[in-house]
Amino acid sequence: MNPINIDVLVCGGGMAGTVAAIAAGRNGAETLLVERWGFLGGSATAAAVGQFVGWETEAGRRVIRGIAEEIVDNLRARGASDGHSHFVMSTGHRMDQVSYDPETLKIVLDELVTRAPAHLLFNTVVMSVARTERTINEVTVLTKKGPIALRPKVVIDASGDLDVLARASATFLSLEEGETLQPATMMFRFGPIDYEAFNAIPTPEIHALAQRGVHEGALARAALHQSRVTGTQDGWFNVSRVSVDATDPFDLSRAEVEGRRQAFAAANFIRENVPGCAGGRLVALAAQLGIRETRRVSGNYILTVDDLRRGRTFSDVIACGAYPIDIHPATGTGLGFETLGKDHSYQIPYRSIVPSGFDNVLIAGRGISSTHEAHASTRVMPNTMAIGHAAGLAAAMIAEGNIGARELPVERMQAKLREANAYLG
Ligand SMILES: Cc1cc2nc3c(=O)[nH]c(=O)nc-3n(C[C@H](O)[C@H](O)[C@H](O)COP(=O)(O)OP(=O)(O)OC[C@H]3O[C@@H](n4cnc5c(N)ncnc54)[C@H](O)[C@@H]3O)c2cc1C
Repeated sequence: MNPINIDVLVCGGGMAGTVAAIAAGRNGAETLLVERWGFLGGSATAAAVGQFVGWETEAGRRVIRGIAEEIVDNLRARGASDGHSHFVMSTGHRMDQVSYDPETLKIVLDELVTRAPAHLLFNTVVMSVARTERTINEVTVLTKKGPIALRPKVVIDASGDLDVLARASATFLSLEEGETLQPATMMFRFGPIDYEAFNAIPTPEIHALAQRGVHEGALARAALHQSRVTGTQDGWFNVSRVSVDATDPFDLSRAEVEGRRQAFAAANFIRENVPGCAGGRLVALAAQLGIRETRRVSGNYILTVDDLRRGRTFSDVIACGAYPIDIHPATGTGLGFETLGKDHSYQIPYRSIVPSGFDNVLIAGRGISSTHEAHASTRVMPNTMAIGHAAGLAAAMIAEGNIGARELPVERMQAKLREANAYLG
């Protein structure tokens, strides 16, 4: 098969890559999205995370809009989400959230991408990359038919693990002394739950139950965190914890097995001990282990936790965030959680989605150029969608102008983002 020429190639169809493909397609770029599964959403669907958190400051100022909000509107229209709501965390933080049904999300994303328009290539993985100095000229993907060569003007690496950049020998950021990769979680759907009884459990009792679960070896995390599937009596539980380097295929395989083992142990404990859960059972496991952290690229700017804490402003801002710094330790059952302030938000600069050493590559999603601690906030899905929106638009503009990523007219891009209802502070 001859190589295929396209304007924008998006590798990875998680929330970041999907939104990037929608934005690139809407802005006139011939766009192709390559995804290893047969559906979109990544962690949102394959790992069944079940809720988008971090849309607004604790005081209620919304900092994520644009295509991310359109996705919520579409979910609501299909009865697959009740839209924005709040819950109080064990830390006392009042968290905003949008719970959704992962199955319906797949359909919503199919429609938005197809309509953008962007082309889809499912069940396909990035295999190798041909690079000349600062440019990726070709990405070879492995399909059912064998390898296919793609020749994009611009590549967006939205694979979460930054597989394209890894194949292109990019530079990645290391963990600092004392830091560890955040652990993974095998989400599981449990039900039916008598939510009247479950929601009536006093917070101290929930904590005591979770501690008991940990003590008995049934829970890896001292929490009974779940999000209800809209319109059902089921919830997706986020209570397992597996330490893993998900870029190591053997370690990842071990971790998938361990995640399922933990999920079954947790479900049994919940059925036997938690009020409202006696009639329930484990209904489904997520299709894959949920991966919080792997590679972070070294980009033209490295976003730090200090930037987030101080609310540093950037002339090349492309997105804002307000989610706390949320670090699950690789070992241990607790949570490192730092709120940023009642009405505090931060900015993400364009330079942090441009990997150093490349002229035609952008990053969308959790792998942007940020420190481990800053990533612990930027990684949540409303943020990754906002970043994806900017990356898709930027890629379309770079392709159209035949320019390098560093030559992008940032003010024009910001104006276009605002026109598309994105929030830039
Ligand atoms: C257990 C867990 C709980 C979480 N809880 C929340 C929460 O409550 N709310 C919230 O907002 N966020 C939460 N997060 C964080 C959030 O889900 C992720 O950080 C976010 O979804 C990452 O999005 P992404 O698009 O960057 O990457 P991903 O979702 O990882 O998507 C990457 C995509 O690329 C594809 N891909 C990977 N490699 C290749 C390849 N080589 N070739 C082709 N395709 C490839 C994958 O299949 C996937 O579809 C949680 C994360 C986890 C793991």
